[in-house]
Amino acid sequence: MRSLASAAAAFSLAFTAAPDAGAQTLIRDTEIEVMLRDFTDPLLQAAGLRPEEVGMYIVGENTINAFVTRGQNIFVNTGTILEADTPNMLKGVLAHETGHISGAHLARMGDGVRGAYATMALTMGLGILAALAGEGGAAGALMASSGQFGTLAFATYTRTQESAADQAGLQFLEATGQSGEGLVRFFERFRYQEVMSEARRYPYFRSHPLSGDRIGALQRRVEASPYRHVQDSEEDIDRLRRAQAKIYGFLATPEQVFFRYPESDQSLYGRYARTVAYYRTGRLQNARSEIESLLEDEPENPYFHELYGQLLFESGRAGEAIPHHQRTVELAPDAPLFRINLAMAMIATEDRAFLDDARRHLTAALAQEQDNSFAWYQLSLVHERMGETALAQFAIAEQAYALGDNMRAFQFASRAREGLDHGSPAWIRAAEIMAITQPTAAELRRTQREQQRRYLDSAPAGR
Ligand SMILES: [Zn+2]
Repeated sequence: MRSLASAAAAFSLAFTAAPDAGAQTLIRDTEIEVMLRDFTDPLLQAAGLRPEEVGMYIVGENTINAFVTRGQNIFVNTGTILEADTPNMLKGVLAHETGHISGAHLARMGDGVRGAYATMALTMGLGILAALAGEGGAAGALMASSGQFGTLAFATYTRTQESAADQAGLQFLEATGQSGEGLVRFFERFRYQEVMSEARRYPYFRSHPLSGDRIGALQRRVEASPYRHVQDSEEDIDRLRRAQAKIYGFLATPEQVFFRYPESDQSLYGRYARTVAYYRTGRLQNARSEIESLLEDEPENPYFHELYGQLLFESGRAGEAIPHHQRTVELAPDAPLFRINLAMAMIATEDRAFLDDARRHLTAALAQEQDNSFAWYQLSLVHERMGETALAQFAIAEQAYALGDNMRAFQFASRAREGLDHGSPAWIRAAEIMAITQPTAAELRRTQREQQRRYLDSAPAGR
């Protein structure tokens, strides 16, 4: 199964690591991921695609953009989610992007574009992993090097491709009994973009050129649809408002959050956004009273427990975070990120009594997301504390492999293999990693020289 993104960590890790740096960062959040998947999967199915083969990624960037890359991946900016007045608007954009996938528009582009996409996919891969590695300095450094993916040229679709994607998108909406009105409204709202200079346009409209003709053609087809007047369900509207409150809480400045969601706003969305803003500004007491009031309303909401656990964990209260993360796992046992959060809190307490459970949760999460580098890293800590050196090295090899650091993966896999039980699954997998990451003689020499230089630099100077 293609995992949602290759690495995982709490929502905030990505944000706290690169605040307002202008760099695009992929973020993970179970609540938003589940919503996007529920909105998109029926459209993919209507397009004859297999949802489990289509990756869905959230870009933590508050401009409007959504795009697809080769290999069937959909990327959605948090800005697109924020700007959608209705679920139907967001679904319209998702249907349009699905139209680009099913029309194989990327496959028809020339070699020049293919090159740009290959680079982008690679840097984004790093970005995903680095953002979620949660390893302080190393993650920051990796992220900085991958931050430029947003400046790479996005493919610009031709007018023919755009209208084909529009028509296909409307077809998928119709097939699922939904209105295309949202897509028309989304485009109309940004119609003025087309008269703006290229540079001032939203990235979305640079790659998906908008024109009056195009909106007209969309409008005509929507009007002919029997589903034109179908409204969003209350449930979908509520999910979108929650996602918006959470995204705003994390990505806007606290001033903006308190302006949009003042304390007089006692709605669920207001309290949700403020919980995040309070804890980001270090006002733990306020954050606690907001989240506790939310939990009073919905004691079984895993995302509220998750947020409570996260804010406690990040305030240095790992022990107190555990019961909340435990609850998320009970409420949603299939969500790997919840298990990883729980294991992380358990490990952080340094209480050996938790090690077995932490290992169990990490293993379960990794069974769903094999390339989750952060989970592998946490697992290496568990093994290390249990005195299982070879397994710890093996987990580091997996982590490095997931991060695309082949040299490190090779080195740790070979070290691990010496200590692992001959013929055990880890031993076999270590051999596999070694085979895939086998460096060339030149690469090996270069690494050895670097290590030698580092040793010499760190050695005490002679008298
Ligand atoms: Zn398009």
